[in-house]
Amino acid sequence: MAQRVRIVGGVAGGASCAARLRRLSEDAEIVVFDRGPYVSFANCGLPYHVGDVIPDERQLLVASPELFRDRFAIEVRIESEVLSVDVQKREIEVEDRREGRRYREPYDALVLAPGGAPIRPPLPGIDAPGIFSLRTIPDSRRIRAWLAEHQATQAVVVGGGFIGLEMAENLAHRGLAVTLVEQLPQPLPPLDPEMAVPVAGHLRARGVDLRLGDAVAAFELTSSGRLRVRTASGAELSADVVILGLGVKPETTLARGAGLALGPSGGIRVDERMQTSDPHVWAVGDAVEVVHVVSGTPHILPLAGPANRQGRLAADAIAGREPRFRGVQSTSVCGAFGLVIAQTGASERGLRAAGAEGFESIYLHPGHHVGYFPGARPIHLKLIFQKPGGRLLGAQAVGEEGVERRIDVLATAIQLGATVFDLEEAELCYAPQFGAAKDPVNMAGMIAANHLRGDLPLADWRSVGETDALLVDVREPAEFAAGHLEHAVNLPLSELRRRSDELPRDRELWVYCQAGQRSYYALRALRQWGYDVRNLPGGYETWNAFRELGPSAGSSR
Ligand code: FAD
Repeated sequence: MAQRVRIVGGVAGGASCAARLRRLSEDAEIVVFDRGPYVSFANCGLPYHVGDVIPDERQLLVASPELFRDRFAIEVRIESEVLSVDVQKREIEVEDRREGRRYREPYDALVLAPGGAPIRPPLPGIDAPGIFSLRTIPDSRRIRAWLAEHQATQAVVVGGGFIGLEMAENLAHRGLAVTLVEQLPQPLPPLDPEMAVPVAGHLRARGVDLRLGDAVAAFELTSSGRLRVRTASGAELSADVVILGLGVKPETTLARGAGLALGPSGGIRVDERMQTSDPHVWAVGDAVEVVHVVSGTPHILPLAGPANRQGRLAADAIAGREPRFRGVQSTSVCGAFGLVIAQTGASERGLRAAGAEGFESIYLHPGHHVGYFPGARPIHLKLIFQKPGGRLLGAQAVGEEGVERRIDVLATAIQLGATVFDLEEAELCYAPQFGAAKDPVNMAGMIAANHLRGDLPLADWRSVGETDALLVDVREPAEFAAGHLEHAVNLPLSELRRRSDELPRDRELWVYCQAGQRSYYALRALRQWGYDVRNLPGGYETWNAFRELGPSAGSSR
């Protein structure tokens, strides 16, 4: 008899599992259930449909039930909710909403790919009309209809994560005034705070009313039919529409009902083959908990790439192969108002929270391509690596161009267990309009490797207020005059060889410049002349971010 494979959820994880399994087995009888009206739709494109960047919702439909049937001989049952799983009898109970009937369906292998549900905190007034989450095509249709019917001009977006930022951008693109409320003191919580500073600045410069460190407390419908959003700080924000972007939590109702084991972070527990605690049930995507390759801890990462990879891998396992999921490393990218923010691996904050020691961070601000070619834009790049071995642990980058390319290279390097010494040697493509002969990735590797070799001792920006070291600004006088660290002396690199004896030999020197390069040159010379000297990584550019953070910057160390 053909192996009966039943898949719950027909989008990223479920659809890729179904299609991969067919490629491996012409014999399997594959049925996909989805409670929604579509399968295989592009949820990642939904914010851009709301923003009218993708005007036609049909463009979001990657594959239809008919395509699955005709191309892959896979049966797709839409508007069919799986209500429960009986792992003893190996049956699922299904409600067919189109026909208004319930039935039981046996399986030999079951794949749970139900995704994650948007978080809706039980705040007063949360169910008022005009407050939306965004997960499905019908959600985006409802939001679009609401915006049009109410001729919306003002929006409040709650939550400054990826979806919150994308929705802020898309609502602004439609001409709405946007207020974004985030309870943490920074947007994009996975970023280290200093890396989020340019993001906050950019959002504000593009007209977003950014309310950081404030939480939404209640929603009210006013007599005029508009919404009033009250925040913990006492602010009252008027809105025609509210979008909740508070993250997702794994859909585990079916798994819990079936008695499947959940992990400590709340997702369905799976092994390296995506198999659950029941040998006939697999689970993939936003619903599962997997291991983070850098921290080694259980992790939920609701992103499309992992869901697709896991779906494919579960199919391999069901087909009798021996796949092994390597885990996730939090590689992500987000665009907002022309800014690109990307990251991979561990953050410094995450490492510190986990009590990790023996790592270092460096900063650099290179152009995305050589400066002599028109249009070079800076990339703010942070690299986190182990000491003394140099294994890469994480990277974060913010800029307008070339950001995701560098993070993709670093993500691959992390997955392959590379060190900063490997980055020095990485051979990357170059022509003037694309990069530099020493690409930002090479530069990051060189700075980190110089540090580990002892050629570039580093100081910590968070200690500049407390250090006894002499702060030496090696920029030109005009740059110094435009802004410098308190108590710093100015000795430009161009005069250093002539005037170095003005510097004390009995006191540590902390040198800095604009982005860290000139101060590195100064440091190398001063060390050879016998001075005790450290470099402040990333220069004044990095200081500007730490300064914005104020005293909290010190306490996060
Ligand atoms: P989903 O794709 O959510 O699919 C789950 C399906 O299961 C749903 O169709 C649901 O209806 C169905 N289902 C659930 N329970 C049942 C049941 N009991 N019976 C039948 N059917 C059921 N990720 C990125 O990497 N990059 C992005 O830019 C990005 N942007 C996003 C933007 C938005 C607005 C959203 C919502 C998500 C975005 N994501 C992005 C996340 C990405 O879409 C998800 O990580 C990915 O889709 C998860 O795949 P999945 O298969 O686990 O779940």
